[in-house]
Amino acid sequence: MKGSNLLTVLILLGLVAGAIFGQTVLYGSMGENPDAHWTKQAGDLFLIRPLFLLIIPLVFVSVVVGMTSIGDPSKLGVVGGSTLAYYLVTMLIACIIGAVLVTTFRPGDLPADTAARLVGEADASFARATDIAPNIKEAQEEGLGGAWMSILRQLVPRNIVDEMAKGRTLGVIAFALLFGLALAAGGEKTRIVVELFEGLFDAIMRLVMWVIWLCPIGVFLLVAWTVGKIGLRELVGPLAKYIIVVLSGLAIHGLIVLPTVLFMFTRRNPFRYMWQMRRALMTAFGTDSSAATLPVTIESAEGEGECSRKAANFVLPLGATVNMDGTALYEAVAVVFLFQLYGIDLSFGELVIVVITATLAAVGAAGIPSAGVVTMIIVITAVNTVLRGQGAAESELLPVAAIGVILGVDRIVDMCRTTVNVWGDAVGAKIITKLAPD
Ligand code: ASP
Repeated sequence: MKGSNLLTVLILLGLVAGAIFGQTVLYGSMGENPDAHWTKQAGDLFLIRPLFLLIIPLVFVSVVVGMTSIGDPSKLGVVGGSTLAYYLVTMLIACIIGAVLVTTFRPGDLPADTAARLVGEADASFARATDIAPNIKEAQEEGLGGAWMSILRQLVPRNIVDEMAKGRTLGVIAFALLFGLALAAGGEKTRIVVELFEGLFDAIMRLVMWVIWLCPIGVFLLVAWTVGKIGLRELVGPLAKYIIVVLSGLAIHGLIVLPTVLFMFTRRNPFRYMWQMRRALMTAFGTDSSAATLPVTIESAEGEGECSRKAANFVLPLGATVNMDGTALYEAVAVVFLFQLYGIDLSFGELVIVVITATLAAVGAAGIPSAGVVTMIIVITAVNTVLRGQGAAESELLPVAAIGVILGVDRIVDMCRTTVNVWGDAVGAKIITKLAPD
C-alpha cells in the first residue's frame, strides 16, 4: 500500500477505534477531572504539542516564501483582496445558513421542565469551565469593539519575538508579509536570503511529514478522550435537536455550498479535491484545532491537492487564524438556540445583528479547541445591548452563563466545525491557485 493511503487508513482507524474505546471503556469512568485523564495527556504529548511546535516557524517561513514567490505587488493586491473577500463572503453565507436553520427548526423550544432543568444547570456548568472561564470574562469585558481592537493591535505588532513566543500568529503573519515583500523588492541583493527561506521551508515540511505519522495514535487518544468525557448518549438527549441543527448546517455548507463555490471557480470535481485533503480534514476532526492542523493542511494542499505554493502559503496560514466558516455558522445557531431556550424571541433585525457579529466573532476566534464558545460571548453581548436599547429589562436579556447549557457537548460539535473551518481554507487555497499559479 502507498504510504499516503496507509496513513489515511490508519487515521481513520484511529478515529473509529477512539470512538469505540471512549464509549465502551472510558465513558463513566473518567473521574472528577476528565482533563487530567491519561488519554488527554497522551494525546497532547503525541500530537498536539508536536504540531504546535511547528506552527510558528511554519507560518513565518511559509508566508515569507509565499510572498517572495508572488513577488509583484500589484498581483499581491489582487491575491490579498480576493482572499479576504472569499473569507468574508463564505463566512457570511455560513452564518445565514445557521440563522435560517435555527429559526426554522427552533431547537430551543423544549418542554418547560426540560428547559428549566437545562437553564438551572447552566450556571454550575459555566462555573466548572475553569479552563475557558478567564477568557470568557475578558471577552465579556472587551465586547466586539475591544475584540477588534485587539486584532488590529496584533496586526501591527510591536515586538515580533514576543508575538512568536506568545504564539500569536496574526502578528507573525503581518511581519512575514512585510519581510517577504522586502525580500522580493530586494532583487539580486536579497536573492540568497530568498533561497535560504526556500530551503527552510523544505526542511520544515519534512518535519511536518514525520509528525503526520503521529496522527493515527494522537487522533485515537483525543477522540477516545472526547467520547469518554461526553458519551455518545448525549447525542440523543435534550440537546440532540440543537446538535442536529448545527451538524446539518455544517453539512450543507461543507458538502453543498463550498463545493459549489469551488466548482464555479475551478470547474474541477470538488469531491475529488475533498478526498485529496482527507488527511487534513481527519486531523482537524481529531484534534479540534485548525491551528494544530495547519501543517497537515499545507502539506496536503501543496502535495496531493496540487495547490500552488504562492496561494497555499498565503491563504492557509491566514485562513487558519481568521477564516472560520464552521465556527461562524455554529455561533449563529448556538446564540439563537440559547435565546429560544430562555424564552426570548429575536426579531429579524436582531437576527441580522447575530449574523454580522457571529461572522466578526469567528474571525476573532483562535484556531484552538472551544475558541468559538469564548467569542460567542461577544455575539450574546451585542444582541443584549440592542435589546437593552429597545427598553428590555435585565431579566429579559440572555445571561452569559447560559453558554453553560452547551459547554458539555461542545467538544463534539467543535470537531465538526473545525473540519469545516479547515475545508473552507482548503477551498480558498484552490480557488486562489487559479489567480496565482506557480
Ligand atoms: N476549534 C475551532 C478551530 O480550531 C475553533 C472553534 O470554533 O472553537 O477551528
